[in-house]
Amino acid sequence: MHKINLILLGPPGAGKGTQADRISEIYGIPHISTGDIFRENLKKGSELGLRAKEYMDRGELVPDEVVIGIVHDRLAEPDCERGFVLDGFPRTVAQADALKEMLAGTGRGIDHVLNIRVPDEVVVERLTARRTCRACGAIYHLVFNPPKEEGRCDSCGGELYVRDDDREETVRARLEEYEAKTQPLIAYYRGEGLLRDIEGDADMEAVLANIRKVLG
Ligand code: ADP
Ligand code: AMP
Repeated sequence: MHKINLILLGPPGAGKGTQADRISEIYGIPHISTGDIFRENLKKGSELGLRAKEYMDRGELVPDEVVIGIVHDRLAEPDCERGFVLDGFPRTVAQADALKEMLAGTGRGIDHVLNIRVPDEVVVERLTARRTCRACGAIYHLVFNPPKEEGRCDSCGGELYVRDDDREETVRARLEEYEAKTQPLIAYYRGEGLLRDIEGDADMEAVLANIRKVLG
């Protein structure tokens, strides 16, 4: 199968992580989530994790230079030669420019930017009932995608927890950050002819079907 390089764009709670996991499985490409990388680093207690936490807890974006360095290193790993699905990166125009530069000369640009669209009220409903596996990062929802056993991850048995930044007041701050800093990327990628709008306010299987239609 030829390689495919994807970006998932959309507000927090749009379903990027959920769909990226599925895409990763179906297309055999790594799922790269900058948020997951920060949370893994925090779990290890690394300096990067502690630095990122300050911003994450306030619902703010981590500074561009920190995020860009991480993605640069991750994309240099050999599994990315098959392609990749980026989830939660880029989130600013500076990050998008940096990504373009990283890929320039590799002969492998971005193929599609999937813009997952959901209304604000749906986002709040999704995030306040999201549960995340502390061990493997798998994503659940108390109503829309509940685990088989309460509080336990179906795939690894790990403990499910509520992310600190999924409290309602932090969710509002994250949505403001999204509108101010990330939304401009819609026009940016539309201008490059890469933007594909995906209706995200539907059940998970329907959203996946829409994505598969675009990817062919
Ligand atoms: P993002 O990565 O964009 O922040 P997630 O994939 O973590 O979003 O999804 C946010 C929450 O919404 C999770 O609890 C997830 O289980 C749930 N969710 C994801 N997609 C859907 C969907 N299509 N319908 C209902 N709930 C969904
Ligand atoms: P996510 O797991 O994608 O919801 O990201 C959680 C948090 O990590 C965000 O609210 C930011 O604080 C931080 N973060 C993740 N990705 C980025 C990024 N590309 N740029 C800046 N901050 C990020």
